[in-house]
Amino acid sequence: MTTSTDLKALVEVVGGDRVRVESLASPLQDPHTLDLKPGQIAGLRAADLLVRIGLDHEPWLTRALQAAGDQRPAGRRHDLDVSAHVELLQTETPRLRESGVTHVHGFGNTHYWLDPENARPITGDIEAALARLQPADRSVFEDNRRRFLARLDERLADWQRRMALYKGRRVVVVHDTWPYFARRFGLIVVATVETTPGVPPTPATLATLPQRMKEAGVKVLIAEPYSNESVVGQIASRSGARAVTLVPSVGADPAARDYLGLFEVNITRLTAALAGTS
Ligand SMILES: [Zn+2]
Repeated sequence: MTTSTDLKALVEVVGGDRVRVESLASPLQDPHTLDLKPGQIAGLRAADLLVRIGLDHEPWLTRALQAAGDQRPAGRRHDLDVSAHVELLQTETPRLRESGVTHVHGFGNTHYWLDPENARPITGDIEAALARLQPADRSVFEDNRRRFLARLDERLADWQRRMALYKGRRVVVVHDTWPYFARRFGLIVVATVETTPGVPPTPATLATLPQRMKEAGVKVLIAEPYSNESVVGQIASRSGARAVTLVPSVGADPAARDYLGLFEVNITRLTAALAGTS
């Protein structure tokens, strides 16, 4: 069981036909605010391995695990937090946590799967966890991962070549989902519409942001499938920026059917939005 479709895709890459994977979140849901159905609680209880983003990305998971009331002896549930070997961004800006169920990037930004390079440590941890569960298939997992990383390297070189033209471009994002992606592909995120992650923008932000975007030369506003359309439309029209909806998770667009497809879709949409701007 994984908490997201991205982690599902990465577990499938390593596990191949030796694993059966389900994701708790569907790709068009905001991954931070999830209410599990009884069937999913049962699935969580039955899973041999739970793979999650960790930090405060899944504030709903504590309650879900309590509801699942895992009866297995300690050590039998394998709980893998794949943030362990990822170099996190924004750890220097701790935010006050008003409640245990708010996703506020309080320990660093949790959207780290959106840098393709982070697939390396993430799949490394997945490979180790699967090999512990199923030692007989260790070499299968190793080979699967090696092949995947070779393909990833090839594709990443292509994505970076296509984005090179837009290096240093300034963008505004709705939710702070894209710092890892932006760093890898040379974009500068100058502002977030949600000044506090997960909290809708204040009237003051809505009033002043478009002018600040004009002054900063921001031509592109990055939204997500579950962003508030009227907020996005309002800011785009008043700032003159193009709004582009990127896909934060595998499956949120039919073309983003696996981890590599996710980046292919996003690079294609982004280069289309940036084309002709300066
Ligand atoms: Zn977030």
